[in-house]
Amino acid sequence: MSLRLASLLGTVALGSAVALVVQAVPRSDHQAAGQTPADLIVTNGYLVTMNHQREIVERGAVVVRDARIIALGGMELADRYVADKVIDARGAIVMPGMINTHTHVSMTVFRGLGDDVPDRLRKLIFPLEKALVDRELVYWGGLHGMVEMVEGGVTTFADMYYFEDEVARAARAIGLRGVLGETIVDFPAPDAAEPYGGFAYARRFIEQYRHDPLVTPALAPHAPYSLDVERLRRVAREAEELDVPVLMHVAEMPDEVETLRKDRDQSPVEYLAEMGLLNRRLVAAHCIFVSSSDIDLLASHDVGVAHAMVANIKSAKGVSPALDMFRKGVRVGLATDGPMSGNTLDIIGQLGYVAKLHKLEKRDRNVMPAADVVEMATRGGARALHLEDRIGSLEVGKLADLVVIDRDSPRMVPFYDVYSALVYAALPSDVRTTIVHGRVVMEDRVVRTVEVSEVKARVRAIGERISAAVAQGIQ
Ligand SMILES: [Zn+2]
Repeated sequence: MSLRLASLLGTVALGSAVALVVQAVPRSDHQAAGQTPADLIVTNGYLVTMNHQREIVERGAVVVRDARIIALGGMELADRYVADKVIDARGAIVMPGMINTHTHVSMTVFRGLGDDVPDRLRKLIFPLEKALVDRELVYWGGLHGMVEMVEGGVTTFADMYYFEDEVARAARAIGLRGVLGETIVDFPAPDAAEPYGGFAYARRFIEQYRHDPLVTPALAPHAPYSLDVERLRRVAREAEELDVPVLMHVAEMPDEVETLRKDRDQSPVEYLAEMGLLNRRLVAAHCIFVSSSDIDLLASHDVGVAHAMVANIKSAKGVSPALDMFRKGVRVGLATDGPMSGNTLDIIGQLGYVAKLHKLEKRDRNVMPAADVVEMATRGGARALHLEDRIGSLEVGKLADLVVIDRDSPRMVPFYDVYSALVYAALPSDVRTTIVHGRVVMEDRVVRTVEVSEVKARVRAIGERISAAVAQGIQ
């Protein structure tokens, strides 16, 4: 019996009295000591599993082999396994990595331009992208944003942009997991001379990355208002044929809602249902303007929703009824949106806003408790991306995407409730170590996989090019 299969069959009971049965066959050189080989062990952690029972192990270990968690439980585990790499968490929180369910990571290079002005999507963002976006910008801007995500404890992100193969290349370089969608839109894009050129681009990208362990390639139709009926139906058909996810902005814009109501007497969600897009492939970003019956449709069609609270507050569009969606069982995850919209890319920075704005909206401090917010940031994000069988919690058999978060800063002392500490007190800089697919991407705040100073130098150079173009008036 293989080690992995044996471990999956083993029973794991967590809590103060930890019982863990792993019937592994050790390699002969470890047999004498009775130790089973592993790739990585994280010891002495305060384990926040985010499993269904939200179990916590106050002093425990996580064992990783072949990119998966093969055991977790009390500290006695550390004696049963031998690994090339052992990380002593020194009492810090060890939890599943956070999941950013909607961003445009390469837009770090535009961050801070045109904040606080109206209609900047058409007046500023689209012209900037048309004039300046190329492969180099997407790669380095993307890698720069990924450094920020790794430093903030994000292990998986969903992205939609142009030249998405460059985002994929950057994700591979740094070692982040991504659901990455090539944008399809009704005007010529930086990577396609013709309107809807994204279809052909996406097909090539999907074939290239179809079997990648970190990258899940996807289709990213921009929004209900920026593709016509024929092309929306085509996205639905091709997603089915290619067996890929669909990432899309949905019910985000007031004029999107008004136009559909006037022309078709439908809400954006009803419209997408008619187009054949409302299904388990769809990750719908924002969903600000959704009614109670829209929410029922999202729930019954297994749609994932990316709740980007901070970006929505900043754009002053409104608060998505994510709380009602969560209560009705919709697959809700958290998201930053792109760095021109939400400006930061870590999820820890979202947590407090999600909790507090929903309380304010409902005039009820009991709603959206911290533990639910942490669930949205982890297992909820995995559900939103339809990856919950692989990531989102610390459980035997799942991929080893986990983070170590200090609880030693003044903000975290004393320590009574881990969910409260994470949601209302933690900062992204409290993340100490980030592990993705069993690989240590950042250890003790040092990113191991890419040269961060080089990434910053490249992005500064691109920033100078952008400043010059803005100074001359973007053409
Ligand atoms: Zn967006």
